[in-house]
Amino acid sequence: MPFSFLTHLSCTKCGALEDAGKLLNVCTRAGCGGALFAEYSAAALSKDDTAGRPRTIWRWHELMPARWPEEIVSLGEGGTPLLHAKRLGAKNAMPRLYVKEEAGNPTGSFKARGLGAAVTMAKALGARKLALPTAGNAGGAAAAYAAAAGLECHVFMPADTPKVFRIECEAYGAYVTLVDGLIDDCGRMVAQKKDAEGWFDVSTLKEPYRVEGKKTMGYELAEDFGWTLPDVVVYPTGGGTGLIGMWKAFGEMERLGWIGSARPRMVSVQAEGCAPIPKAFAEGKDVSVRFEHAHTYASGLRVPKAYADYLILKILRASKGEALTVTDDEMRRGVNELASSEGLFAAPEGGAAWEAVKKLVAAGKVDRGERVVVFDTGTGYKYVD
Ligand SMILES: *Cc1c(COP(=O)(O)O)cnc(C)c1O
Repeated sequence: MPFSFLTHLSCTKCGALEDAGKLLNVCTRAGCGGALFAEYSAAALSKDDTAGRPRTIWRWHELMPARWPEEIVSLGEGGTPLLHAKRLGAKNAMPRLYVKEEAGNPTGSFKARGLGAAVTMAKALGARKLALPTAGNAGGAAAAYAAAAGLECHVFMPADTPKVFRIECEAYGAYVTLVDGLIDDCGRMVAQKKDAEGWFDVSTLKEPYRVEGKKTMGYELAEDFGWTLPDVVVYPTGGGTGLIGMWKAFGEMERLGWIGSARPRMVSVQAEGCAPIPKAFAEGKDVSVRFEHAHTYASGLRVPKAYADYLILKILRASKGEALTVTDDEMRRGVNELASSEGLFAAPEGGAAWEAVKKLVAAGKVDRGERVVVFDTGTGYKYVD
């Protein structure tokens, strides 16, 4: 049996097929530029075959892109706990409230899953120098995996990103450029320079494999819920990689016969100061409009326009989900509640997800008895200033 069932890439916009053996960013068809998805053969695989393996993103290696074990660059990412939030649940009469606790990942956030997979594949396919824009955590994760892979890494971040993100990138040996602007301004700088500099762009959904790393959260949820899925998944959304990835994973698992056709309602949470997805969702639009003057202290949510917004919106609707906002003050309260009730010092993004749950319950959109998963996507320790 091959180590990976990867066969090819397909465009999520126009359906064009691309060669998975090439180092590619997005769909190469003229004028398309759609995000590329990794596709796998329909070979049989039993979930029992995965049971004894280490709990990292590579536990699911047949449905991951690395062709051989030797290619993998890993720092032990993934395999995070699904915690039953008993005290917070009891206080809110929600007996089946769970937290997917991603703070324990290498570099302190779930970005490690995505960049672990992306850096592995970039190196395997011949990249020597990586570049990316970041709102914070992606830069640290990219820099760490690039260091472990022996690759050069160039990180572009808004000048007002918390200082710790820059310090860690530099410690990992990355070249950091502070940009007077937002993450999409940083992205434009990468795009302008990359050809002349020979950089491979590992921006969110502008290469096919970050989403593969993040989809493993979907596999883990299914396994931890005894090969069923929860009723509601609440996801603090920036570029949307995890939400898109989990939805992809659910489809793959159904095709493998590991789960049925039931799906959670997917909920996208953004900050009131940067809410392109809730706005587009409310207006019934298929794509979002750049959110001007974007501001929030949850740097992971400060993404004024997601590259694959069309996928996020499609998934929210297909799952009968929701998109909503919380304020920065609400996030702070959410962080404090997660910390004081559950012992989890969450990132503001995690606090946002918990606050969103309360709003959905109050609005009658989530029933208190449902199985609800709050994503705590990173550690609070990076946001202390
Ligand atoms: C990047 C980030 C997010 C948003 O993740 P996406 O997959 O880009 O939507 C949420 N929380 C934290 C802590 C992050 O670093």
